[in-house]
Amino acid sequence: MSGRVAVIGLDCADPNLVLERWLDELPNIRGLVSGGTWGPLRSVDPPITVPAWTCMLTGRDPGELGIYGFRNRQDYSYDALGIADSRAVGIDRVWDHLGRAGKHVIVIGVPQTSPPVPVNGELVSCFLTPDPQKAEYTYPAGLRSEIEALVGLYRTDVRNFRSDDRDRILSEVYEMTEQHFAVARHLLDTRPWDFFMLVEIGVDRLHHAFWRYLDPTHPQYEPEHRYRDVIRSYYQYLDEEIGELLARFDDETAVLVVSDHGAQAMQGAICVNDWLLQEGYLALRDYPSEPTLFKDAAVDWTKTRAWGEGGYYCRLCLNVSGREPEGVVLPSEYENVRAELARRLEALPGPAGPIGTRVYRPEELWLAQRGIPPDLIVYFGNLAWRSNGSVGHARHYTFENDTGPDDANHSLHGLCVISGTGFAAERRDDLVIYDIAPTILARFGLPPVPGMRGCARGLA
Ligand SMILES: [Zn+2]
Repeated sequence: MSGRVAVIGLDCADPNLVLERWLDELPNIRGLVSGGTWGPLRSVDPPITVPAWTCMLTGRDPGELGIYGFRNRQDYSYDALGIADSRAVGIDRVWDHLGRAGKHVIVIGVPQTSPPVPVNGELVSCFLTPDPQKAEYTYPAGLRSEIEALVGLYRTDVRNFRSDDRDRILSEVYEMTEQHFAVARHLLDTRPWDFFMLVEIGVDRLHHAFWRYLDPTHPQYEPEHRYRDVIRSYYQYLDEEIGELLARFDDETAVLVVSDHGAQAMQGAICVNDWLLQEGYLALRDYPSEPTLFKDAAVDWTKTRAWGEGGYYCRLCLNVSGREPEGVVLPSEYENVRAELARRLEALPGPAGPIGTRVYRPEELWLAQRGIPPDLIVYFGNLAWRSNGSVGHARHYTFENDTGPDDANHSLHGLCVISGTGFAAERRDDLVIYDIAPTILARFGLPPVPGMRGCARGLA
């Protein structure tokens, strides 16, 4: 089987909204669904943009990649966190294999492609671009002037999406998305492509900024607000843009619509370091008079056994003797301390009782543990609560977000629609993110790469 493959990635697109609730209002996606293999797509653990897209495109898990989130520990010191941009990706992505097989690829907006990486074709970087007015964001470099002649100054992301200035976020998301699709159409029209992939980050930004106007289970749900249809209208707009792309694909093109994870209402945040402090796992020289970033807190490492990072999930790190500079947990105590923390965190209640927190050890989730993995992976409220890393809240939960307003957390299932000759028209509930890379390779008649998790779909 050979032909073209087009992957339309919608970061954070939620299967309940797209494949069920609003499907009839999304005629282009509905057309793909009715002729294709579709269903929820199990994301990786953790279901976070970085590393989820890279896991999808390498067929490898976060531990094998050594990428545990946007920020990763660079060494065993207490403050060396690095951004996991394209330079952190040490395993070939599907377009690298295709390029070596002589296929021409077009890649736009895929997370972890900044700084831009060479491909056999064209690449436009992702939201990790520091500032597209200053930093390189295309491969080849000269593609930039072609893009700016087409759409003007190019946006790879909206500015701060955790802000009360929601009108600005909304207008920037539309401005950005229009640019991304205009560039996509231009490249499809002017390049002899075999593989095309676009990831639109706007869905994620709108979910985080507007979820409270959509979801009655959100604690600050505001019904009948003027923003109540913002997310729905944006999906309808995306469906029209997708229609413009579909018009450019022939009958031999396999089309995938995928997301890296879904979304759910954010119920609140667990102040993990305040809890660790209260329970004697963490010590400060001074307790701050107001919430303070953990990196600015006066931690007494000689009396600290554990600390946690903030984010959509919590990375809990132990301060291990012989590993961290002032480690105190003896290697012989390590498993007992982990087990005790896991048990106690799973039992930790919110303001109204149990919240269903799940705690995992890295070896339970991943086939390898490259780089520096956390010692425990904590999904507060099974991801309905985020982790607040700052200290000084004087209690272990809060409804304020220390990084700005944010209504949504991620959920474990994104979505997947695969349409084209050879794919059965059926709903499936066993699709996993690791199936995508082998499916793409199989479409080009290429075998799966040794080590890829998942398997090719749709081709007998
Ligand atoms: Zn994402």
